[in-house]
Amino acid sequence: MKRIGVLTSGGDSPGMNAAVRAVVRKAIFHNLEVYGIYQGYNGLINNNIKKLELGSVGDIIHRGGTMLYTARCEEFKTKEGQLKGIENLKEHGIEGLVVVGGDGSYRGAKALTEHGYPCVGVPGTIDNDIPGTELTIGFDTALNTVIDAIDKIRDTATSHERTFIVEVMGRNAGDIALWSGLAGGAETIIIPEDNFNMDDIVGRLKKGQERGKKHSIIIVAEGVMSGQEFAQKLKDATNMDTRVSVLGHIQRGGSPTASDRVLASRLGARAVELLMDGKGGRAVGIEENKLVDYDIIEALAKPHKINLNMYKLSKELSI
Ligand code: ADP
Repeated sequence: MKRIGVLTSGGDSPGMNAAVRAVVRKAIFHNLEVYGIYQGYNGLINNNIKKLELGSVGDIIHRGGTMLYTARCEEFKTKEGQLKGIENLKEHGIEGLVVVGGDGSYRGAKALTEHGYPCVGVPGTIDNDIPGTELTIGFDTALNTVIDAIDKIRDTATSHERTFIVEVMGRNAGDIALWSGLAGGAETIIIPEDNFNMDDIVGRLKKGQERGKKHSIIIVAEGVMSGQEFAQKLKDATNMDTRVSVLGHIQRGGSPTASDRVLASRLGARAVELLMDGKGGRAVGIEENKLVDYDIIEALAKPHKINLNMYKLSKELSI
């Protein structure tokens, strides 16, 4: 392989830039040429493709977002769109593609693979919901943003002796809620992977108040319901007034943490190694701190698993 491409797609996540940098530098180190495809699969269809040099990825390792921009592209879900993309790649002599993105982007990479074009998926999403890896690029940074917010909310919650409901992102996965709730010492964590029991939640709140707790923080994953909806349900059950904070898109931004930069560098470089070995149709990931790769089609078929032991622990520590 002499020439590869790289794109970022779907929801952006801090550390995508570090992954792009790793792909470009690793490829050039091994005497490959690298092309950046701008605006995700849109750029693939519209031929927004430019050559990247060592300097093109200078000064981006510490920046959130993605220098290649990202987009959602309905047309790429069609066979015509996918074949047009492959045509543009071939026109540039690009023989393999690294796709940094979430599970939707993986489906795009899977489609290219099924058309016989070599693609490697790198998990870039704050949601930590990609099968075949224990961690995704951006998750750690998002967690630190959420923790920072929880710590601040805790100050005002304590001063006013209030219960706060904090809605966090994660799409259909509860990972951001669980990890940030555990790290932030939340009283209750509500995730899509488990049905919540309002009586149990109210009992815990009351018990806390009885032992003199000045505040309560409830984390609600967006995949369950909105923070506002949950506040209404709690009010219906207890007549308790709460305050709701929806953290929203601040969770997507910011300078990536050291962990995310290291993860992105390792995964991006591994993706290039796979393409150099002639291995397309793979998804790279990390398990027990070792790099792994799976068939992208098989990886997508696996269910995402949340760490239920951690969930149990969060309940034990918040009595
Ligand atoms: P994420 O990658 O963050 O999960 P999306 O689900 O929006 O984000 O997917 C990003 C893009 O991936 C979509 O806009 C589309 O271009 C492409 N994509 C998603 N699903 C498919 C599919 N089934 N086949 C081909 N491409 C897809």
